[in-house]
Order: sequence, then C-alpha cells, then structure tokens
Amino acid sequence: MYIKKAYGYVLPYDKLSPVSKSLRAQYDPPEIGGNYNKQWVALLVIQKSAAPGWVKWTHHSEGKTHCDVCLKLDGCWFLESKSPVWPHHPFCHCTLDPIDYAEVLMHAKTYSEYSKFDPYLFDPDNVYKHGKNRAFASWGYTVADARWLQAEIEKQALEKYLAGDYTLGKLNKDGQRISIRIEIPRKGNGKMVSFLSGWMVYSNGLLRLTTPYGGK
Ligand SMILES: [Zn+2]
Ligand SMILES: [Zn+2]
Repeated sequence: MYIKKAYGYVLPYDKLSPVSKSLRAQYDPPEIGGNYNKQWVALLVIQKSAAPGWVKWTHHSEGKTHCDVCLKLDGCWFLESKSPVWPHHPFCHCTLDPIDYAEVLMHAKTYSEYSKFDPYLFDPDNVYKHGKNRAFASWGYTVADARWLQAEIEKQALEKYLAGDYTLGKLNKDGQRISIRIEIPRKGNGKMVSFLSGWMVYSNGLLRLTTPYGGK
C-alpha cells in the first residue's frame, strides 16, 4: 500500500513535503474539515521498520584516487535495492550509508527548466525537428500545455522517486541518470497514456530533468 511505503514516521504537518500534503489531501475526508485529525495521524504512525531502506553514496578521499564518477555520485540518494553498482571499481573507497527515510521525504526535490518544454519539447517553430512533439500532439497537447506538463512531470517524478519507482540509466562522469514513467490523460477520452522522462541524480535528493520525453 502506497501510504505505508510513503510514511514510516510521524511528521508534523508543516514538515511534510508538498507531495505528502497532496497525499494527505486524498486521505483527509472533507467532512472532517481543516482539522489535523486523529485519523490522519493514525495513518502516519507506522513502524519505522516498515519504511523502505534508502542509502547515500558517500565518496571518501583517499590519497589522489579521485574518480569523476564516484565524485558525481557523492551525496546522492538511492533506494537500497536500486543503487548504482557498488563498489564502483577496484579500490573504490566509497560507502553506501543508510539514511533516514524521513530525510528523503522531507528534502527530495525535482527540478526542470521551462525551456525543456517550450521551445524544446513542443518545438512550436519547428526548429529542433526531433518529432518528440508528435506523441503529445496525438494526445491533444500543445505548447499551451507546457506549464501544466512541466508541473505534472515534476510532481509525478517526485512521488515516484520517493516510492522507489525509478529505473537506473547510464552512469558516467556526468552522473547517474534515472528514468521515471509519467502518466497523463489523453485529451478527449481521458484514457491514460504514459512515457518515460529522464533525470540526472544530484546530491541530497535533487533530481534535474534531462529530457521530458525519453521514449514510450
Ligand atoms: Zn571511483
Ligand atoms: Zn568510489
């Protein structure tokens, strides 16, 4: 159950991330009103042992053996079962240190540049000619939806990252890429369609969008 996965701790409401707040809204029956009610608190109280295990990749400088890849991974957070291969190479001094899931919930963030959507993705002036806008056009989306799509992709990606629902991609000296599946309604009939978004992992739970559309 998602709630169980998402909450291992009792957190004060003002410390919850926007995502947790939106989850809260779903589980906060309107008839109870704006009160921070006991029912909700009960949902938050879950054994700490039920929280998913997250780890922080930590690079330790030992002499001159700085490696670009390990330096990029330094401080990055991963679900324990979905971390890059460790150790990364012979004599890698990095460690995978457990981190508190509450820390992940409170501080993980997704970030994207608007230019990735307009002009890049929707390509209104047909400059890039990558054809990535075709799928969106067939689902009824135009450049007028760029702001909505940007916010929706950031929101869903954060929720899925927190739930450990991501796939590791290429790792090199630029860093670790992950992909996250995004679902949006097809305009008109409301049937859901999905596609993969691409992200680069940075330290302390930051994900930065590399491509809004990395394929079906
Ligand atoms: Zn290394
Ligand atoms: Zn290393």
